[in-house]
Amino acid sequence: MDRNAFSKLSYGVYIVASGSKERQNAFIATTVMQVTAEPAKLIVACNKNNFTMPLIRESKVFAASVLKQNYKPTTMGTFGFQSGKDFNKFEQGNEFIFGENTQTPIVLEDCLAWFECRLVDEMDVGTHILFVGEVLDARIIAEDEQPLTYSYYHEVKKGVAAKNAPSFVSNNIEYSLKIIGVMKYICTVCGYVYDPQVGDPDNGIAPETAFEALPADWGCPLCGVGKEQFEEE
Ligand code: FE
Repeated sequence: MDRNAFSKLSYGVYIVASGSKERQNAFIATTVMQVTAEPAKLIVACNKNNFTMPLIRESKVFAASVLKQNYKPTTMGTFGFQSGKDFNKFEQGNEFIFGENTQTPIVLEDCLAWFECRLVDEMDVGTHILFVGEVLDARIIAEDEQPLTYSYYHEVKKGVAAKNAPSFVSNNIEYSLKIIGVMKYICTVCGYVYDPQVGDPDNGIAPETAFEALPADWGCPLCGVGKEQFEEE
């Protein structure tokens, strides 16, 4: 099997939230898709180890928000690369609301649209649970923004999959190494690799800039943590 074939599948990047006003969590998902129109239903795949998984089962509600292409690294870092077991992702200053129909949390931060869903079915597919939600409400909140796609995240932002993502295989990391050349320092939180040959032009760091020469306030472009969270590769 050629695992690279999977990289030809198209995915978006979403923040899936669930819970109630008392307890809530959210995670980054690539597997969110509309499956029917009348009534409108979405499916979401959630790793069984995700803190959000039992919240969806218990509350029977969830929301999916569409991330925009120019998201802030801290948004990806909070929702994608850290666990709600360790801290409350909804107490980090990220904008969110509670859905009027379900009271589910709905993340607005760096998102351009959202779907508020009532859980109607689920299927155990092995490492993940496939949740089926009927859409009770949906809104566009940023008309002129582009949605983030997984290929843009992967090839332009040099992002790698979080370890609970369905698309995570060790090949993914090797693939990232190949496309960005010789590695120097890796972010221990999200897996982003800083390559001095490439620099970080999006954040004003020219190619050929050594890791040691990065300004003290430089942060991981994917998850926002500081230089002290990087390790030599
Ligand atoms: Fe990072």
